[in-house]
Amino acid sequence: MLGCRVDGFTLKEAVELLSCFIASGKPHHVVTLNAEMAYRALHDPELKDIINRADLVTPDGAGVVWATRILGTPVPERVAGIDLVQALAWQAAEKGWRLFLYGGVPGVAEEAARKLKERHPGLNIIGTSHGYLSKEEERELLQHLKENRPHLLLVALGSPKQEYWIAQHLKELGVPVAIGVGGSLDVLAG
Ligand code: UDP
Repeated sequence: MLGCRVDGFTLKEAVELLSCFIASGKPHHVVTLNAEMAYRALHDPELKDIINRADLVTPDGAGVVWATRILGTPVPERVAGIDLVQALAWQAAEKGWRLFLYGGVPGVAEEAARKLKERHPGLNIIGTSHGYLSKEEERELLQHLKENRPHLLLVALGSPKQEYWIAQHLKELGVPVAIGVGGSLDVLAG
């Protein structure tokens, strides 16, 4: 769509795939693509490249689903970041995956973590951080993530900041799954 790859998995299939990514232990980048992001990528070849090199690109927005229909290669359903996070939380609680939530204004990631743990008592959220860190604080966060290695890193810095951030740091972090989730932490925090 507008030169961006979109993967035609259902939510259930996407969760199964992410489960395999985590089992592999190797770093994977997941993009939840909406129309604004695809449009921006038209004029931003680096962003387009990041999207097309990602390990999974889900159709986050209704516009993306609609466009794939018009283009004659319909995806089976919308796989929004928030739905992916909710579905992954079930699996994470069951399988003992370590989660880290990064992004939003101060307090949002903590509140999102609190709400997620309330809903999924076994969930292992190993940490949270707001998304307005200084360079020094960001270095500390990267060090912390390297040492504590979450299985699943949710990055909510808005697009395209989160896509650039993940692309830049994923390899050094070695996190099996990093997902750009846009405003999902705000939604979870309520
Ligand atoms: N955000 C952040 N750091 C930044 C810019 C944005 O943590 O430097 C957060 C912002 O607080 C919000 C989230 O990114 O929680 C998503 O922002 P927005 O709704 O603008 O992005 P979109 O969902 O449209 O990609």
